[in-house]
Amino acid sequence: MVIMTTIDWQQLLQDCVSFTRRLIQTPSMTYAEAAIADLIAAEMRRLQFDEVWLDEIGNVCGRLYGQDRSLGALVLNTHTDHVDPGDLTLWPVPPYSGEIVDGRICGRGACDIKGPLAAQVYSMAALKRAGIIPPRDIVFTGVVQEEIGGGGSQYWVDHLTYPVDLVVLGEPSSNTLSLGHRGILSLWVTFHGRSVHASVPHKGVNPNYALATFLQRLPAAQSRLSPHELLGSTSVAPTLIEVDTRSKNVTPAWTRVLLDFRTAVESHNSLLAFIDQVAAGLDYSVAPGWTGLEIVDSDEPLSGFYTPPDSELVERVSAALSRGMGRPVSLGSYQFATDGRLFAPRQIPVVGFAPGEEDLAHTVNESISIDMMAESLRGLVQLLQEF
Ligand SMILES: [Zn+2]
Repeated sequence: MVIMTTIDWQQLLQDCVSFTRRLIQTPSMTYAEAAIADLIAAEMRRLQFDEVWLDEIGNVCGRLYGQDRSLGALVLNTHTDHVDPGDLTLWPVPPYSGEIVDGRICGRGACDIKGPLAAQVYSMAALKRAGIIPPRDIVFTGVVQEEIGGGGSQYWVDHLTYPVDLVVLGEPSSNTLSLGHRGILSLWVTFHGRSVHASVPHKGVNPNYALATFLQRLPAAQSRLSPHELLGSTSVAPTLIEVDTRSKNVTPAWTRVLLDFRTAVESHNSLLAFIDQVAAGLDYSVAPGWTGLEIVDSDEPLSGFYTPPDSELVERVSAALSRGMGRPVSLGSYQFATDGRLFAPRQIPVVGFAPGEEDLAHTVNESISIDMMAESLRGLVQLLQEF
């Protein structure tokens, strides 16, 4: 069903671009999201959203009432924080300028996440301006602390007081419909030795050699890890290395490496078996990579979130987005992790759809195409009207 509307697309885009620039001009590093939350709340009030509020942790939310308010809401989720711009002299344009260069809005947060955030807010504004009442409630949630692990989304999902039928994540997907991403498992592998004075190394057992053997075997062993048909390969990256001693003239008693696994098919058990193969013949043990994580005896595949491409939900969402954009939407997945992984365990369906290129996120060339934002607005407005 295509609903005829009186949306002024040119005005909508112009206002959305202006809002994006103001968002970029308002720095909002993690734990410093209060100013931007106020800016977003003020914009939603000015656009006459039916409800606008901030929750206890600082998430900023806005709601449009639907025709049937007993239906589960359609939730648009973006975060309000961004990563550090780093060395400012490396940026081609100042990171908080929001300058427009060759049809692209530039600066920290342009594609991750302020351009997508503006598109979500203005897709809702389009309905309000045209007097269109969506079938169900639409809720915008701008959450804090996404860049450091998802504290804002975790708070939101833990305190939900209304039913939710779909979350659309606004992480940049180049206007493809993103159906998931791999899960993360982070494990310390510790190699044990016997510490002695560094002047008599032959009297001890130096675990650095076991670590070296392990790391040399690791790249070739990666090919044994199974890929997922849509979410891609399973990867393992050794990141931090630590020893037990701070003394320069003592050989370590133990040395450990942190392995960062990304997978959608491997499980706790299969990854432990993988480590066991790579560490064959070495004296080692495994421990959780972060506090709160438990290693469990489980064959359950670890994925971030995954919405199957042949599901009825994906058919409905992709049909609406395609109608709105005037071309078929393609299906894809994210390389990075998102807050979507926090909703999936609550059986809340999740998809990702937003303008902006994923590989520009967290770089000094961060920017977003205004044409892509225009197309995204058309897709989102259609989805909001139909879903
Ligand atoms: Zn992001």
